[in-house]
Amino acid sequence: MAKYEDLKDAVVIVTGSGRGIGRAIAEQFADQGAKIVITDINAETAAETAKEIAAKGVETHSAVCDVSKMDQVEALMQAVIDKWGKIDVLVNNAGITKDGMFLRMKPEQWQIVLDINLTGTYNCAYAAVAHMRKAKKGAIINISSIAAGGNAGQANYSASKAGVIGFTKAIGKELAPMGLRINAVAPGFIDTAMTDAIPDKIKETILANIPMRREGQPEDIAKAILFLASDQASYITGEVLNVNGGLGGL
Ligand code: NAP
Repeated sequence: MAKYEDLKDAVVIVTGSGRGIGRAIAEQFADQGAKIVITDINAETAAETAKEIAAKGVETHSAVCDVSKMDQVEALMQAVIDKWGKIDVLVNNAGITKDGMFLRMKPEQWQIVLDINLTGTYNCAYAAVAHMRKAKKGAIINISSIAAGGNAGQANYSASKAGVIGFTKAIGKELAPMGLRINAVAPGFIDTAMTDAIPDKIKETILANIPMRREGQPEDIAKAILFLASDQASYITGEVLNVNGGLGGL
């Protein structure tokens, strides 16, 4: 495993980290010796994951936070500042799908995906930057998706993830003079509960189209995020890193 000395003792917040990709990201930051905030809408998985990661010998903080609710997000950031006095890295990982063809997509199905995936990313970035800018240092990594290129049956999700890319590029430019770096990672098809829900027949077609002929693992995404969070990426901002087994770039 690559070692990033600057991530030791860094304060890292990973949203939606009770399970899936978020959990793998939190574990890899812990392996670097960072202080980890495990936060999720699900109190049970957040507490359990924080307990298991603490067993690696790092400090953890577990908190319930629905990223679509600004009051909860602000309370989370303040709790981290009260505990550790700084926020070095924010990973906007929390996200959901509510798939369906556009002609049958209900307004609430559209809205909740935009509220969590896009507004949630805005909320967390806004509240974290209020603290990061005082330190004149910080990194935010937003999770987009290959679906940002437009997936049939995912108009809501594709729009939210394309929005994340535009948002990343815009604030990457705005916040660079303040010493903050904002990047995105766009995963392809990754083995988590989110993709477990896809019927086997569709999965087979997806896998056949991936040049590497395999699905990615949450750890593949975590490795890319660690790099972008570290000083090794100190001249990279407003960028989208595709991690998708060769499916192509956004
Ligand atoms: P996952 O297994 O469904 O995990 C998502 C986590 O986010 C869960 O712990 C979930 O809590 C939590 N969450 C849901 N709504 C939330 C909210 N409002 N506030 C805070 N936390 C919330 O998904 P994943 O596959 O790990 O995906 C992680 C990220 O990667 C998402 O942004 C997703 O869009 C993106 N992504 C995934 C893939 C893939 O192939 N898996 C591909 C491209 C992009 P619950 O346990 O209560 O559901």
